[in-house]
Amino acid sequence: MTGGHVGAHSSLRDAEPKVFWLDRADAPGSSPAVQGTIETDLLIIGGGFTGLWAAVQAKERSPGRDVVLVEADAIAAHATGRNGGFVDASITHGLANGVSHFPQEVDRLIEFGNDNLREIEAALARYNIDADYEHVGGLEVATATWQLDEIEAGVELAGRYGESVALLDAEALRALVDSPTYVGGARRASGVATVDPAKLAWGLADAAASLGVRRFERTPVRSLEALPTAIVARCPAGTVRARKVVLATNALSALVPAIRRRVVPVWDYVLVTEPLSDAQLASIGWTGREGIGDAANQFHYYRLTADRRILWGGYDAVYYRGGDIAPARAQRIETFVTLAQHFFTTFPQLEGLRFTHRWGGVIDTSSRFCVTFGTAHDGRVSYAVGYTGLGVAATRFGARVALDLLDDPASELLHLDFVRSKPFPFPPEPVRNVVIQLTRRAIARSDRNEGRRGPWLRLLDTLGVGFDS
Ligand SMILES: Cc1cc2nc3c(=O)[nH]c(=O)nc-3n(C[C@H](O)[C@H](O)[C@H](O)COP(=O)(O)OP(=O)(O)OC[C@H]3O[C@@H](n4cnc5c(N)ncnc54)[C@H](O)[C@@H]3O)c2cc1C
Repeated sequence: MTGGHVGAHSSLRDAEPKVFWLDRADAPGSSPAVQGTIETDLLIIGGGFTGLWAAVQAKERSPGRDVVLVEADAIAAHATGRNGGFVDASITHGLANGVSHFPQEVDRLIEFGNDNLREIEAALARYNIDADYEHVGGLEVATATWQLDEIEAGVELAGRYGESVALLDAEALRALVDSPTYVGGARRASGVATVDPAKLAWGLADAAASLGVRRFERTPVRSLEALPTAIVARCPAGTVRARKVVLATNALSALVPAIRRRVVPVWDYVLVTEPLSDAQLASIGWTGREGIGDAANQFHYYRLTADRRILWGGYDAVYYRGGDIAPARAQRIETFVTLAQHFFTTFPQLEGLRFTHRWGGVIDTSSRFCVTFGTAHDGRVSYAVGYTGLGVAATRFGARVALDLLDDPASELLHLDFVRSKPFPFPPEPVRNVVIQLTRRAIARSDRNEGRRGPWLRLLDTLGVGFDS
């Protein structure tokens, strides 16, 4: 999508450098930090969706087991509280990616994904979690004619796997959501919902507490040491001695070196507008409140919030040399301006609307775009990382596998290629940075050249690896 827009800068003038979902007067207070020595059966490191789902499922499986969760910052402070809130049944970062990497078992992975989504919905009901969960379905939109081929191929593929996705011409699409940039698209009726991710995470944290999980915040684990009797997690003001450990640290930690080879931290950026008036909303339609993504390689995702704001994110996926995840990287003005320009190109009817929030968050990108698993320290530590931008639902499945790796060697999940095989590793720095920047430029060039993939992207396609968000 191209096109400058004069209003972009002024629309950002009052945008606060804060995460909309976390910027609430009723956000929960924090739990204490670990002090002294704590003993536990299971230590979960990380208070995002993976860690929270691991905590809840661990207690549901074995209510008598003692479970401790430690979080370096606050519950939901990172990707979990910063995302778009798209809940997608796919655990493979979409059907096409699942088919391309796991052709032999994709049917089962679809089933596991659908079951996982049903289990999430059941947990919301069981623990009475109000997270503004809405069955809205999804729209994939083409903003250039070359994208239509890919959308048609996606609809055909979905049909083959029994998913109900309907092709829409520009007129039918614009009757749902009116953007002059749309040239066609597709509507997926099921398997996509939206949620308030922070409310979901806080609800899961309450559920875990109600099951007896002990929670500590402001507690970064600095190192893990394997003793014969325990794994020892050293924190600034104390120590946790655990029989077993789930690492749910996304791309944010180097506690297990293998994670660093398979997963890189990529920054993704988001804007949220002020609430739309009745007239503003009527000017674009969108009565179905679908979650929307465009079909470019550098894509935008957008949705309505419960209070009728538009969350608008994506496009740039930025890797900083050395995998920099310093908090200051969460603000990138040039990306916010680009996003705002694209917003008004998409919805010129909303001229004058202002953004209230702007932020970035770290996506754990793997070269095959979906979660990867592993163990360390004689199988006493397990991890699930690498969801690559589609982890809101998949994290529950990831946590389930991480627990199976520790507890249940007979689990059918542990025989899946999806679980056993590893994504192609990223090269070490400084080559890593060169390769990723080269790939990003090639992806941008492909979007400018009607989707034609140059030699570099074709080579990566042949190797079955890529870079995405
Ligand atoms: C901007 C953005 C938009 C996204 N949009 C979507 C979307 O719309 N839909 C979707 O499905 N997915 C989306 N995602 C991806 C999704 O948010 C993630 O896949 C998911 O939240 C990952 O959860 P997690 O628990 O694995 O990681 P995180 O939420 O990052 O949690 C990891 C936690 O571990 C803690 N931690 C790390 N190291 C340590 C340590 N040493 N000691 C103690 N604690 C530690 C961190 O502080 C952090 O809180 C998006 C991500 C981003 C960044």
